[in-house]
Amino acid sequence: MGLFSMTKTVLKSLFKKPATIRYPAEPAKRFEGTRGQMEIDIDKCIFCGLCAKHCPADAITVNRNERTWSINRLWCICCNSCAENCNKGGIYQTNVYHPPIVAGETDVDVYKGKPVEEKPAAEETAA
Ligand code: SF4
Ligand code: SF4
Repeated sequence: MGLFSMTKTVLKSLFKKPATIRYPAEPAKRFEGTRGQMEIDIDKCIFCGLCAKHCPADAITVNRNERTWSINRLWCICCNSCAENCNKGGIYQTNVYHPPIVAGETDVDVYKGKPVEEKPAAEETAA
């Protein structure tokens, strides 16, 4: 590259708008098809564990006894496999990126389901 050509490139770069944004200081651009973070409607979840079984990144943990569903946001690769394998329609993909996780913050989001309502004991029938 000749000196003239290089100087031209440097000058152009100096006055050109940057091709990237200063994320996270500036919000990321969102598009309709952006594969963003996964969300769960915990009220639809029956804690079957199918989503965790089909997660290639091992990012989901389901605890049926404690009725918790958790996701490691750093491990998730936003492939949508969990949503495709949830028969209850509880997981969905958004077009929002998870904000960067800074030191001291947890990378695991835990969602807790409502406790199971105990069925009233069957009334004794008088003989
Ligand atoms: S989100 Fe869906 S697949 Fe995952 S545990 Fe809940 S009901 Fe099962
Ligand atoms: S989107 Fe993919 S990687 Fe992320 S939790 Fe679901 S199955 Fe796992």
